Amino acid sequence: MKNSVDTSIQYLKGIGPKRAKAFAAVGIKTVEDLLYYFPRRYEDRTKFSPISKLQEGTFQTIKAQVLVKGKRSSFRRRGFSITEVIVGDETGKISCVWFNQPYLSEYFKVGQSVILYGRVQRYGAKLQMNSPEFELALEQEPLSTGRIVPVYSLPQRVGQRTMRALVKSALDEYLGQITDCLPYDIRARNNLLNLATSLISIHFPENESLRLKAFERLSFEEFFIFQLPLAMRKLNKKEKKGLIHKTEGKLIDDFLSNLTFELTASQQNVLKEIKKDMSGPLAMQRLLQGDVGCGKTVVAACACVIAAQGGYQAAFMAPTEILARQHYEKIKSQVSSLKSEVRIGLLTSSVDIKEKENISKDICEGKIDLVIGTHALLEEGVEFCNLGLVVIDEQHKFGVGQRALLPAKGANPDVLIMTATPIPRTLAITLYGDLDVSVINEMPKGRLPIKTLYFNEDEKRKAYAIARMELAKGNQAFIIYPVIDESVALDLAGAKRMFQELKSSEFKGFRLGLIHGRLDEKEQKTIMASFKDRKLDALISTTVLEVGIDIPNATCMIIEHAQRFGLSQLHQLRGRVGRGEKESTCILIADSKTEESKARIEAMVNFNDGFRIAEEDLKIRGPGEFFGSRQHGLTELKIANPLTQMHLLKRAREDALKLIASDQRLELRPNIQLKQKILQRFPEYEKLMLVG
Ligand code: ADP
Ligand code: MG
Repeated sequence: MKNSVDTSIQYLKGIGPKRAKAFAAVGIKTVEDLLYYFPRRYEDRTKFSPISKLQEGTFQTIKAQVLVKGKRSSFRRRGFSITEVIVGDETGKISCVWFNQPYLSEYFKVGQSVILYGRVQRYGAKLQMNSPEFELALEQEPLSTGRIVPVYSLPQRVGQRTMRALVKSALDEYLGQITDCLPYDIRARNNLLNLATSLISIHFPENESLRLKAFERLSFEEFFIFQLPLAMRKLNKKEKKGLIHKTEGKLIDDFLSNLTFELTASQQNVLKEIKKDMSGPLAMQRLLQGDVGCGKTVVAACACVIAAQGGYQAAFMAPTEILARQHYEKIKSQVSSLKSEVRIGLLTSSVDIKEKENISKDICEGKIDLVIGTHALLEEGVEFCNLGLVVIDEQHKFGVGQRALLPAKGANPDVLIMTATPIPRTLAITLYGDLDVSVINEMPKGRLPIKTLYFNEDEKRKAYAIARMELAKGNQAFIIYPVIDESVALDLAGAKRMFQELKSSEFKGFRLGLIHGRLDEKEQKTIMASFKDRKLDALISTTVLEVGIDIPNATCMIIEHAQRFGLSQLHQLRGRVGRGEKESTCILIADSKTEESKARIEAMVNFNDGFRIAEEDLKIRGPGEFFGSRQHGLTELKIANPLTQMHLLKRAREDALKLIASDQRLELRPNIQLKQKILQRFPEYEKLMLVG
């Protein structure tokens, strides 16, 4: 079709193959992608701040003339250069500086009119703008002056003005061809702008209130498209009958009374919810949230035992070999002394082929009640004879598609998925749409909060000294590095070399082990086993230990280059200690340069609670990334914000459920556009819709 919005942007004026590549790198391939590439922010260029009125500490836009062109000072020995440009308007002058962008000294010419946006900071007696965004102000350019101007995150070597011109020409040429994917009645009911008006107003808003209406409509669309597949799944599940498990019985009672501890009240509540689901006629679809260390595994084990009690098989999938093995060993020991036998198997990719075949055969013939494993469980050769329960641990490590594969091996089995990246409950219900949510919000008795300390690189030795003190008491420690091999360029120490170094210096006389993802799984297994058996005092590691590892005798963790890790990752890592009754310490060693990394470290030092950490993470990263693919397997939200637009999300969810109830596979005419949009956004759902 001519002028279809699927047209490659190469056909837009001003975009050749080379530019097309740069655009592709930021995800823009078609005209539609470009139209949906929303501004990062806006500048109200109907008014600029006069230089004399600039206030320290705020972000401001000024329009001024270049008075002194780029003066460059190099500090070669320290490896950086500074370019300074002085600009002025009728009210005053201000200096603008950029670091390490020497070419800027040639960019600005005296007398040019420029627009600058940045934070105003004080240097001595004077104000200055540090690394402001800049643009030449050409008076004959109505897209860039005298209006609310969009500011985009730019592809390589594309300027703001070019970007604006491209978006404008795409709007002019193609808007007539775009079909609104939102059915009319939904738009009318929710009082939403049509797509064409919204796209114009999100890029070039005539005024603030139109921009907000456009923002609302496009956010709704995003939520809606994101809720539809969830609604579809929810309905699918509802229609299929689930299994009815026998939730009360000797085996589960026996299992509970054989545990070396009592379940916390919170664990008991969740178990009750699980029992209710499992004994009901519909298949359980439950998400279990709970902070690191709260004891989710044992609750899942209870569910597995319940399945076995009624003669069904259970499959328990974990994201890493180490974790799968640990669950296997733990649950095996918990069921070992039961009066009737629960037959357990372990299936991972490192199990050798012969053994794998044997286990697969046993699973298929019903000789195994509970199989614990990794992705290997998803392989085609693994078939169950009567799969009644699926447990997925650390679900955020799996994609949506992967999560759906294991339950597909049974006849609508019950599903329990677990996550240690908790988010507020109301949000979870909406975001995970098709799932019910349980929360464990209490730690086992006797746990002491983990003490978290922050040292900078120069104080590293203090951290080692603390670790040595722990080791001397017979406790164990982890020392975590972001990389296996050191990186000179990034100035990072790697696990491998530090292992050699620490062994013969700071930790001389202690037994150190090294573990990382490049070791084969057999080696990993051996090292973990010796650490667990206390044949090693400290383990030098990369993030292979991030999830799930449970060694209560480990009381000290040092995380080097902590600025390199995300907040939830740091929290997960920290959760490897503090799992017993002894007080534990987590020491972050970091040279934080950015505000963000400082904020992360601060949050870690201040908060122990995972829900709180998640909130901080949200604040630091913004919802787009936080709720990105890691959280729910869907692509990032580009414009909508589930936190601030909760009401809109709710409405989108209700309308999605309604629509799916009336047209389950989106086959009716007004909905076909929507279906295509979903497939385009979430190819993973194709299978789902076909399966129906
Ligand atoms: P997570 O929720 O992070 O997956 P785990 O299930 O690994 O946590 O449990 C952490 C540790 O707490 C394990 O050693 C487990 O045996 C122990 N544990 C679980 N529940 C209790 C309880 N009610 N009382 C005491 N210890 C418990
Ligand atoms: Mg766990």
